[in-house]
Amino acid sequence: MSSADHESSSVGHLYVVATPIGNLDDMVPRAISTLKSADYIAAEDTRHSGKLLKHFGVDTPMLAYHEHNESERTDYLVDLLGSGNKIALISDAGTPLISDPGYRLVRAAHRAGVEVTPIPGPSAMVTALSVSGLPSDRVFFVGFLSPKSHARRARLEELARLRETLVVYESCHRIADALVDMALKLGPLRQVAFCRELTKTFETVRLGSLGSIRDWVIADANQQRGEIVLVIEGNHSTSALLAEVDQRWLRALATEMSPARASALASKVTGIRRRLLYQWLTEGDGDGVK
Ligand code: SAM
Repeated sequence: MSSADHESSSVGHLYVVATPIGNLDDMVPRAISTLKSADYIAAEDTRHSGKLLKHFGVDTPMLAYHEHNESERTDYLVDLLGSGNKIALISDAGTPLISDPGYRLVRAAHRAGVEVTPIPGPSAMVTALSVSGLPSDRVFFVGFLSPKSHARRARLEELARLRETLVVYESCHRIADALVDMALKLGPLRQVAFCRELTKTFETVRLGSLGSIRDWVIADANQQRGEIVLVIEGNHSTSALLAEVDQRWLRALATEMSPARASALASKVTGIRRRLLYQWLTEGDGDGVK
């Protein structure tokens, strides 16, 4: 039995269907059959998705489901599911719910006892991560930063200590300003993978330091077009390991005794290697953090 033709039941079925992030050849066959056999397709932008559906010969009726009507529309869709309909949820591109609407509907469907089935496929975050060359075992998905520089810088300050690889979605209109703020708040030496127009004609993947990628993007207007994901190295400095309160008492300790003795004591308490703590006390992290 294929996934798309589950046994019919009085309760409907919600399918969360991923669609391509650019290249239509990335549409998975299971997504096409699920969209064809659904009673309705809940789509973020029905005009935009209409083109995709036409390309794959899908004529299932669409219902608009986007961030502005998500709350009110959820009840209506759950009613449809409750009366036995099969609904496929799609977004403009990639996987629904990933910086896209849908979690309210998925949660409501679970609560109503409706089966929820994923139809996996492309997502810009995983696609970018897969070519980033950065550690992918611990990842923090940031999504979009604020368009306002003040709020963006404040958020970057919070993110600066995280050891996980960061994945950031950024609009091409703000990419230059965002890279300026990132180099400022995360340090210009951090490695970043700049991933633009993935799976499309002008696909660009470039690795470098935040400082060098910032300068390159500012100098080349072509890099400020299209869709962009940044994958940024996590903080592997000693400051990231030391909680702020630990940093304060370690500094205080070093005013009462030698850095070597303070590091040895702090190492016993925190479990961080003595050499790293000594280096941090005497030289900082090498990224201006001390
Ligand atoms: N749900 C989508 C997903 O699974 O990736 C993300 C939707 S979010 C509204 C759109 C953002 O995803 C874009 O601003 C860009 O940061 C990123 N994105 C989408 N397609 C992309 C592509 N082909 N290349 C690079 N980034 C892309």
